[in-house]
Amino acid sequence: MATRTLQRRMALPEIRKGDTVVILAGKDAGKRGTVDRVIRREPSPSGQRSGYRRTSPAGGVSVVVEGLNIARKHMKPRQRTGGNSIAGAAPTMDPGGILDQAMPVPISRVMLVCTHCDRPTRIAHRTLDNGTRVRVCKHCGEPLEVEA
Ligand SMILES: [Zn+2]
Repeated sequence: MATRTLQRRMALPEIRKGDTVVILAGKDAGKRGTVDRVIRREPSPSGQRSGYRRTSPAGGVSVVVEGLNIARKHMKPRQRTGGNSIAGAAPTMDPGGILDQAMPVPISRVMLVCTHCDRPTRIAHRTLDNGTRVRVCKHCGEPLEVEA
């Protein structure tokens, strides 16, 4: 019988650390940056259905792009109340201030930039003769591996 493949063919953006991406939406739209971190969120950490890995339909993968999607966090100065403060000891102060932190961008909001033709591109997959799968640019067909 025709077994339906339920494995949804996700756009497989497969963006990796070190890739150059362009932000598609938001305040940093059009800006480029280097992927610093790829965050994969598994929706159900429970032991059930172990081995059945999937990302949430909302896009469980997001990337932290160096210097982009910065959230300014204002930290208030506060007293740290230590658990075992010795009487008379000065309480430690957290000076606070403004903290710039790159926030993760959902992978649907970034596009990989080809390092060869310098265009934002979709990714094609190609299997080399030795069996390794590589990502290739859909525009110029060049491999996009960033093996450091
Ligand atoms: Zn290209």
